[in-house]
Amino acid sequence: MVRLHEVNKHFGSFAALTDINLDIPQGQVAIVIGPSGSGKSTLCRTINRLETIDPGGTIEVDGKALPEEGKELARLRADVGMVFQSFNLFSHKSILENVTLGPIKVRGVKKKQAEIEAMELLDRVGVGHQAKKMPAQLSGGQQQRVAIARALAMKPKVLLFDEPTSALDPEMVQEVLDVMVDLAKGGMTMVVVTHEMGFARKAGDRLIFMADGKILEDTTPEDFFTNPKTDRAKDFLGKIL
Ligand code: ADP
Ligand code: MG
Repeated sequence: MVRLHEVNKHFGSFAALTDINLDIPQGQVAIVIGPSGSGKSTLCRTINRLETIDPGGTIEVDGKALPEEGKELARLRADVGMVFQSFNLFSHKSILENVTLGPIKVRGVKKKQAEIEAMELLDRVGVGHQAKKMPAQLSGGQQQRVAIARALAMKPKVLLFDEPTSALDPEMVQEVLDVMVDLAKGGMTMVVVTHEMGFARKAGDRLIFMADGKILEDTTPEDFFTNPKTDRAKDFLGKIL
């Protein structure tokens, strides 16, 4: 579903990603873990083309190469949903409008139909009764669940999560992880940057450990947590466990 081949990304002379090769099959939940500054966010941002990559590398989603710009790019972005640490809801729009806007603007769905689909999604993530409110009236955990519903409304082929629970108060983390576990069980292809070990073990099919812009380990969550191979991974686990 997602294929990165020889992906490199420089910011000036700084190498944020080096020789990334990654094949994520349909339905896989890939957890990405690693120290701050290791390139996890940059990796996510290149997959949905919020960042360009250096010439020579390729990124394909569902067999289609990433287009440079224009209509094609808008359609590809619709295939790749992203959920950010800071929710990024449109603060001046209602919860319902946050979810209907993309389908109406990008997918050309009629307003009534978009609202029906949005309500189904909001119910599914447990915030249907909040549809008329504004984002600021919701808790962080509720806002993040709206952000997930908004991403799902575009009917993406893959969902990227960049530390979706790290900005949340501790008591709200689980309600967001529960929604993500449901998505994973439902067969969604997911790339999840997170340090939530419980989630990684429960929902992750694969664990990718990054450091200094490189993939150092690529294995199962169980194998990584019990038997890290590299010193960098051992050191990292020593700090977070
Ligand atoms: P992570 O998400 O793993 O913490 P990032 O992908 O955000 O790491 O960043 C990787 C490295 O790339 C960091 O050293 C960061 O400072 C650098 N970086 C990220 N975005 C930019 C940018 N737009 N300009 C310059 N450097 C950047
Ligand atoms: Mg990051």
